[in-house]
Amino acid sequence: MLVVQDDAVTIEPAGELWGKEIPETFDAMRARYGKKSEVGVSAIGPAGERGARIASVMNDRYHAFGRQGFGAIYGSKNLKAIVVGGTGEVPIADPKRFRALCDAVTKEYKTDLGFFMRFFVFMAQTRTFLGWLYRLATRLGMKVEIPAPAMRQMWSDRGTTAAVALSVENGDAPIKNWKGVASRDFPLATKGWKLDGPQVDKILTKKLSCGDCPAPCKGIVAIKKRGLRDVRRPDYETIVGFGANLLNEDLELVTACHDACNRHGLDAVSSSATLAWVCEAMERGILTAKDLDGVEMTWGNGEAALALTIAMGTGEGSGAWLRHGVKRAAEHVGKGSEEFAVHVHGQEPAYHDPRFTSLMGVTYTTDPTPGRHTAGSASWQETFGAKFPLPGAVSPKEVSVAWHGTEGKGVAQAHFSNAHQIMNGLGLCMFTSLTGQLPWVELVNALTGWSIDDKELLACGERIQDLRHAFNVREGIKPADLVGSPRMFGEGDGLLDAGPNKGIVVPIARLRRDYRETMGWNQETGKLARSRAERLGMAELLDGWLDA
Ligand code: SF4
Repeated sequence: MLVVQDDAVTIEPAGELWGKEIPETFDAMRARYGKKSEVGVSAIGPAGERGARIASVMNDRYHAFGRQGFGAIYGSKNLKAIVVGGTGEVPIADPKRFRALCDAVTKEYKTDLGFFMRFFVFMAQTRTFLGWLYRLATRLGMKVEIPAPAMRQMWSDRGTTAAVALSVENGDAPIKNWKGVASRDFPLATKGWKLDGPQVDKILTKKLSCGDCPAPCKGIVAIKKRGLRDVRRPDYETIVGFGANLLNEDLELVTACHDACNRHGLDAVSSSATLAWVCEAMERGILTAKDLDGVEMTWGNGEAALALTIAMGTGEGSGAWLRHGVKRAAEHVGKGSEEFAVHVHGQEPAYHDPRFTSLMGVTYTTDPTPGRHTAGSASWQETFGAKFPLPGAVSPKEVSVAWHGTEGKGVAQAHFSNAHQIMNGLGLCMFTSLTGQLPWVELVNALTGWSIDDKELLACGERIQDLRHAFNVREGIKPADLVGSPRMFGEGDGLLDAGPNKGIVVPIARLRRDYRETMGWNQETGKLARSRAERLGMAELLDGWLDA
């Protein structure tokens, strides 16, 4: 274990923690190093220890850092955990101003909504009889903008679970390994509603937030009859992954799968996506229960999903080859199963369908960390009219796009993805872009004593995005390596014959090209444009990865 306590950095033996699941690991860490208010801990479970390529890292017990298999990286270095504690303080240039800004933000989040906004929150909940309307809105490209105060309340109440049934019905959530249609395969009125926020509320035992966030959008749940207590509430990605994408309407089993992921330290998106591929392979007769240690992993079988999730976590039986994600599982099985393994360069995409929001497809296939929905995108502007967080940096026209079509999308995507890197760099939550706008520039200036403006801050984001991209160029990853499975874009058997995404073929090649062109990234080699690197003051740093 790597232990950082003030200035002292030590490597300590993990000892009896090796092999332990996440809850036991965190209990032991607490006894050894102190409680959450004293130290921050990130740790891996058995999946990362045993090198599962879809292993996650768990932070402070409940918060999963999934995607791209960082748990396997910890495991490959025999690193069970990182513990950080300290007694110092972060120096603040203008503490009075900084405190006033934080107080204003907290007040905004805590202020009572009043009758009108409460009514709005009530009306915005997904209704089973409005499925047709949600589908129609997608067909027509109608952006439904919910006022920020109402969004804040909805987020505090239910977090991402508030949007599960809506997203399943309106085409945002992929169904049945990206080949299904919710209104036919997983209808809102009979199945989708069973996974939605109000149902999740029934198993909620406690609200949970990151740090001192005034919008506690997470939660702890319990399911007595399965002996599950103190379990992190499943959120949108997990519910869609183990629910709609497997045609599983049993919320308790979805929760049990989620718990199995977190206990073992497994990425819930990657593991559920791998199981959707297994279901399809079973349906096609490519796999049988015999290949899966007797588990009948058919559509809708939540118990089977739980058994295989645990197998992936321990690496036993078929878990030994499933635990590396869908690309490698398909290579292991062969027989044409690679054709319906949905991934981008080995990364299973998150559960936001590019046929619904095309710019998410651009993020999946151009961002240096492919397949992630949290990597920065103008997709929320494209579908819900999300506002650009640094309005003084660009013309409003450059950050406003229609839902359908391609016009202006390369530029908007570049601005939003660059701004996203600022947000990450400042350590701010992504959800603040949905629930209102934080005063980024004012916070930075009060904290640092600088007098930076919106434009300069956005240029910082561009530098970060370019550096992330340059890392991939250095590692030999070319734009053509990140194309993504055709099914995600409505090509081949991904062309749907019903539902809100019926007939949609995403013009992904054009969208990707426009984004790269705006960023100054070479379409073939990925190398960065020298003139831009010079403008950003990075030419020397990136020398060797620039176009001549
Ligand atoms: S910081 Fe973000 S993710 Fe965490 S509780 Fe607050 S709104 Fe939710």
